[in-house]
Amino acid sequence: MIKRIANISETKTIIEKYGFSFQKRFGQNFLIDSNIIDKIIQGAELTKEDIVLEIGPGIGSLTQAMAESSKKVIAVEIDKKLIPVLEDTLSGYDNVRIINEDILKLDIMKVITEEGVDQIKVVANLPYYITTPIIMNLLEKRLPISSITVMIQKEVAERMDAVPGTKAYGALSLATSYYAQTELITMVKPDCFIPKPTVGSAVIKLTRRYTPSVSVLDEAILFKIIKGGFAQRRKTLINSLANSQPQFEKKQVMQALLELNLDIKIRGEALNLNQYAQLTNKLIELQP
Ligand code: SAM
Repeated sequence: MIKRIANISETKTIIEKYGFSFQKRFGQNFLIDSNIIDKIIQGAELTKEDIVLEIGPGIGSLTQAMAESSKKVIAVEIDKKLIPVLEDTLSGYDNVRIINEDILKLDIMKVITEEGVDQIKVVANLPYYITTPIIMNLLEKRLPISSITVMIQKEVAERMDAVPGTKAYGALSLATSYYAQTELITMVKPDCFIPKPTVGSAVIKLTRRYTPSVSVLDEAILFKIIKGGFAQRRKTLINSLANSQPQFEKKQVMQALLELNLDIKIRGEALNLNQYAQLTNKLIELQP
C-alpha cells in the first residue's frame, strides 16, 4: 500500500525532508484534505480509460489519487525543486509521467500525440496567478481535451459560471460559455491548503463543447466586441465599444442594435452570448 500524502503531517514531513520552501511566485498552496481530492476526482469522473494532464502537481498529493483512478497521469511542474520530491512520492506508480516545464510554454498537442490518444482530461489545483491564461489557452487552442476540472480562486469560478444580469457576469463568462459547459463542483476553504491562500477557492468543471455554443462569421471579432462591451461597464454598449475599440463606430453599432431590436442605450452586461453573436454578424454585414 502506497503512503498517501494528502494530509498535514505527511506534507510537513516531506517539506522538512527536502528543505522545501514555498514559492509565492509559483502560486504554491498544497492540498492537505483528502475529502477535497476525492471530490475533484469524482467531479472529473475519472475512469481507468482516462489519460489525465495535471498542471502543477506540487508534491504529488492529487497526482497519487489520480494515478489510482485513471490510466495515466502526465504531471507538468514548473518548479525544478519539486521534481525529486515527486520522483519520491510517486515512485510507487508506474503510470505517471513527470514533465519539468512551464505549462504556458509546453507543446501540449505534442504531448497528447506522444501518448497516442484521441483526447485527454485536464485535472488540477491551479496556480491562481495564471488561472485565466492557462484555461483560455487550453480552450482557444482547440486541443483534444474533453473536460477541465480545476481548483481555482472562488471569484474566478463565479465569473466563469455567471449569467447576464449578475455582478460576476463579464467577458470571461462569455468566453467560457462559448467553448464549454460549466459546473461548480464544490467550494473549498483556505484551511484545506498549506500555506492557506488569502482567498476562497472553488472546484469548477468545464465540459468542452464539440462545436461552439453560437455561430459567428468571425470569432476574433466576436471576442473584440465582448471585450469592448465590458471595457466600461457603467457606460452604454455603444460608448464602451467605441471608446475602447474605435474601429466599431457609434453610428454603425447603433444601426446594428436597431436592426436587432435591441435598446440603443443597452449596456454590455445586459447582452447574452447569442446577442453578442448576432451583433457580431450584423456589424460584419454592415461593413462597407
Ligand atoms: N497540485 C498540488 C496540490 O494540490 O497540492 C499543488 C497545487 S499549487 C496550487 C500549484 C502548483 O503549480 C505548484 O506546484 C506550482 O509550482 C505549479 N506551477 C506554477 N506555475 C506553473 C506553470 N507555469 N507551469 C506548471 N506548473 C506551475
